[in-house]
Amino acid sequence: MGLLAHFQSSENVNALTPLAASHSPRPCAHHHGHTAAKRRCWHRTVASAQAQAQTLQVADGSGAKQPAEAPTGLPLMNGNGAHARTPADLPLPPELEPEQPSVTLHYATGWQTAALHGSLQGGQWQDFSLQQVGSSGGRWTVVDISIPDSQSAQDAPLLEFVIRGEQNAWDKPQAGGNYRITEPGRYRLKNGELEAVMGPPCLIVSDLDDTMVGDDAALATFTRWWQEEAVPRGSRLVYNTGRAMDTFETLCEEKTDSMALPDALILSVGTQIYERQADGSWADDKEWSATLDDGWHLNSVREAAYTALAAVGRDNMHFRPPEEQNDHKVTCGVHEGVLEEVKASISDAVKRAGVKANIIVCGKGEWKFLDIVSHKAGKLAALEYVRQQLGFPHHHTIACGDSGNDRDMLAGQNLAVVVGNAQDEMKAWIEQADQQLAASNGAHLPRVLVSKAHRALGILEALEFFGFK
Ligand SMILES: [Mg+2]
Repeated sequence: MGLLAHFQSSENVNALTPLAASHSPRPCAHHHGHTAAKRRCWHRTVASAQAQAQTLQVADGSGAKQPAEAPTGLPLMNGNGAHARTPADLPLPPELEPEQPSVTLHYATGWQTAALHGSLQGGQWQDFSLQQVGSSGGRWTVVDISIPDSQSAQDAPLLEFVIRGEQNAWDKPQAGGNYRITEPGRYRLKNGELEAVMGPPCLIVSDLDDTMVGDDAALATFTRWWQEEAVPRGSRLVYNTGRAMDTFETLCEEKTDSMALPDALILSVGTQIYERQADGSWADDKEWSATLDDGWHLNSVREAAYTALAAVGRDNMHFRPPEEQNDHKVTCGVHEGVLEEVKASISDAVKRAGVKANIIVCGKGEWKFLDIVSHKAGKLAALEYVRQQLGFPHHHTIACGDSGNDRDMLAGQNLAVVVGNAQDEMKAWIEQADQQLAASNGAHLPRVLVSKAHRALGILEALEFFGFK
């Protein structure tokens, strides 16, 4: 059934008679959300989910809908042999509870501009504009409507609406009447089907090379799930890579059909953060750059690297090309035979110069990347910055990586996956690091997974393990 089947031209939508008597709006018991702009409710009881499905059944006249399923976390055993909850089951911290419930609707459309035309609690009909969702590859638009703290007019549903498209085209239920929503929460409307969206949202912060990318079929599988299922839940995607903007853009061109565009971008080992603009361009986060100036002096760091290079010779060390350098990062290629000597030399020299810097080593062959970055930079520090901006708690944030420069973000308080194709030493390191962490804070919920599956399929395995898929 095509979407066009549901479009009817009408000048008089307001006059449409409501369908069968509505269920009165019931506030959901768990209004977990992140920020005022992202108030969501994803924990529902089975009863309320069934009430939802029945209401929708009346509203779209399909008569064949099954009740939506309540979210089910993967049952995990804790140390006592009892079923432990998954991280996805944990409530949000109280300070992130929303003050006001809301309805969030994801709407799939080919229209360039569309608006939800609706009546809230039986009030006056009005337009709410639908915004494109960046990481959905053009699949979804979204509107977030706060519910005022007042009673609905008698018999009026919480929200009754149709979609106004281009050139007097409308999307309405095929059976006639209007779409109706009776409870706050998340919904999606696609091909005339209005559904409640269940399941918790998550923030994925993923390395690119050999984690998100490297297997085109796996990448396409991830992206399909991301765009269809994760986006309507309010999940957000961030790439956290050693690549700089030019090589990131090259990758995007190569994978244009298979790779989801992220909501934010952390480049050059956490030395640059970019936010996605409405027109699709990337804006450098100046606040982040300013943070990295603390204790940093670029020329002193370059000199420290030159001194080390002079000592070990050009056969053992070189500066990487200019596009891999930036104001808060100096990058060299170093042969593994002299790696420890070079690290010690640079570390001493920057300390003598009064510079605070981190040295990060990465690479699988005998040649390693050696990044000297501001002590405020790094993949974890940048993840924390973006996580707070997007309003996700640690237990809804999953870092995904495979190699040396991912270590710090995999060892943060967030959830983490080391994909199955990672080197054995990475796997051994994360397992040991996690045991130490668990021993020190008594944590019993799983925080880290070394997946069996490789690359993007490993990420999907982790999302299922943690209860987000
Ligand atoms: Mg990698």
